[in-house]
Amino acid sequence: MSLIDDLVKLEEEAKELVAGADDAAKLEAARVELLGRKGRITGLMRMMGKLAPEDRPVMGKRANEMRQLIEGMLDERTTEMKAAALKHALEREAVDITLPGIRPQIGHQHLIKQIIEEAEDIFCGIGYTVESGPMVETSYYNFTALNAPMDHPSRSARDTFYVVDNNPGSVAHPEAHAHGESDVLLRTQTSGVQIHTMESQKPPIYMICPGTVYRPDTADACHLPQFNQIEGLVVDEGITFGDLKGTLDYFVKCMFGEDRKTRYRPHFFPFTEPSCEVDVSCHVCGGKGCNFCKHSGWIEILGCGMVDPNVLINCGIDPEKYTGFAFGIGAERVAALRYDLPDLRTLMTGDMRFLNQF
Ligand SMILES: [Zn+2]
Repeated sequence: MSLIDDLVKLEEEAKELVAGADDAAKLEAARVELLGRKGRITGLMRMMGKLAPEDRPVMGKRANEMRQLIEGMLDERTTEMKAAALKHALEREAVDITLPGIRPQIGHQHLIKQIIEEAEDIFCGIGYTVESGPMVETSYYNFTALNAPMDHPSRSARDTFYVVDNNPGSVAHPEAHAHGESDVLLRTQTSGVQIHTMESQKPPIYMICPGTVYRPDTADACHLPQFNQIEGLVVDEGITFGDLKGTLDYFVKCMFGEDRKTRYRPHFFPFTEPSCEVDVSCHVCGGKGCNFCKHSGWIEILGCGMVDPNVLINCGIDPEKYTGFAFGIGAERVAALRYDLPDLRTLMTGDMRFLNQF
């Protein structure tokens, strides 16, 4: 029976054809070749008409079995190819989790920001608020309202960055300012925030106003043209110099250590009367005297005083009823003293080898 032989032969050929298909297109071509309308199985079925009628059912059964067999082969090959494609993709896209990664650089707060936040914590802990104000100020808020006379040297362009100078000869001709024109400048102190606060809030006022200030100084080991002040202001009934001393002693002990002592030296500021500079006992020698403290046993850290009554009047506060004190300390100076920094410029240069220490 040649048709049976053909079937046996077909099975061999089908196996080869399917096994040889190594992509989806070739497999589809094999399916058409074997099972399609003009395919091999169909061709065999057509030839069954030539068989004796009694042989037809047997042959038909065999042909159907062959069709199922081939369909099975095709399915199996499809599954194999999908598995191989998946395996290939997994291998190609595999990530070796044992390889060392690229560590992201994690930043941290700049030392000066840390000092400012620490001061904020100290003062907030005793009931102060933290206020802020503009860095570009008028000369009224930076000088005039703070009782600085028109001819005060700090108003000169040598000590102040002017943005708009309405009266270039203002220092030489203070009367020009009497017309109420105000110059615009980069604030040289955060004291303007004290004026803004007294204008917008009624006493009692207990506040600090940390912020950046600007002065035309050439940067050197002890000076920066841009630095940060932490100023404070208290206005309330019955505030005395004793309150000032108690508050600043508390601040110094929190900031520099319980064993540090303070000393108050008379000084002059236009906006406070009386005024003092405050020294803290030297941490290197404990007050005995050494090179660090220039053999005095003390290190200057801040300026302060009782708010001048004129400043209160400028802000519409009755100096007969209210008194107050104000103080200012440089954040960079605190950092330099606490960590014994030899050069303030290292705080500004962005050298991570230095900054990462803090
Ligand atoms: Zn010392």
